[in-house]
Amino acid sequence: AKEKGRNNYQLYTPTMNEKAFERLEMESSLRRALEQQEFVLFYQPKISIENGQIIGMEALIRWQHPQRGLVPPVEFIPIAEDTGLIVPIGEWVLRTACIQNKEWQKAGYTPIRVAVNISSRQFQLQNLADTISRILAETGLEPNWLELEITESVAMENGEYTIQMLEKLTKMGIQLSIDDFGTGYSSLSYLNRFPINKLKIDKSFITNLSRGNEDAAIASTVIVLGRSLRIGVVAEGVETPEQYNFLKECNCDEMQGYLFSKPVPAKEFERMLKERIYY
Ligand code: C2E
Ligand code: CA
Ligand code: CA
Ligand code: CA
Repeated sequence: AKEKGRNNYQLYTPTMNEKAFERLEMESSLRRALEQQEFVLFYQPKISIENGQIIGMEALIRWQHPQRGLVPPVEFIPIAEDTGLIVPIGEWVLRTACIQNKEWQKAGYTPIRVAVNISSRQFQLQNLADTISRILAETGLEPNWLELEITESVAMENGEYTIQMLEKLTKMGIQLSIDDFGTGYSSLSYLNRFPINKLKIDKSFITNLSRGNEDAAIASTVIVLGRSLRIGVVAEGVETPEQYNFLKECNCDEMQGYLFSKPVPAKEFERMLKERIYY
């Protein structure tokens, strides 16, 4: 076994060097991207089950790379996290989402909430609440129209810190959601103490959901849990009418997924607002 380990080590050394090099390269191009404003936000609608209207949107970052085209977040967010660049990138996301939402409100569309993903590194920053206060003041967006999505695993990392931070944010009037719920081994006692407004059932449960299977049981259980804790429940990754009907019967509050719309550029999202799309 020892010998095999050594062989493996030798086998993987060049790959690891390549990886390290790729990372360095990626870091400097992310820096450039920030300076050159190569990031864009796409928006995906959240649909109210009650009336089928768009009641919110999630802002999702993309990188408009001059050579590589549109780069999805999975390809650069982890490196941005490692290098700390997620902090200025995350601030850009917050500011851009708030500016956009305020613009749509000024244009006269029915106000909806914009949700922004907060990374682990960002959430650990003591001054996160101050940064957000400043951005809200600068953009003139009322805090109630901003929602932060924090993944379950990040929230559970340090429960006591999470409670403090969420309390600060909640006092400011911001809405809070636990993202990717069901994947992070929640302690239910913590969950009960988090001042949160919504749980988002992770899309892995929705993707494989069909009537009577385990994922359907998990989804309906999370909806019941939300109800008893008086927390709203959102399902993400809804792709089929069958999934929609099941979740509707379970009284899930909001849905998001390709069935309604993929994340789209701001211009296209505005068209949906204009047409007041119902489902
Ligand atoms: P997430 O927050 O869980 O976002 C949901 C992801 O599911 C998005 O992928 C969205 O496009 C995708 N999705 C939505 N509906 C469906 C569906 O019906 N089917 C399928 N298969 N997928 C669906 P995206 O935009 O590629 O983002 C991936 C992840 O990258 C996000 O997962 C989030 O963790 C991260 N991310 C995206 N934008 C940001 C950002 O601005 N800041 C931070 N920190 N992370 C971000
Ligand atoms: Ca999210
Ligand atoms: Ca999610
Ligand atoms: Ca996710």
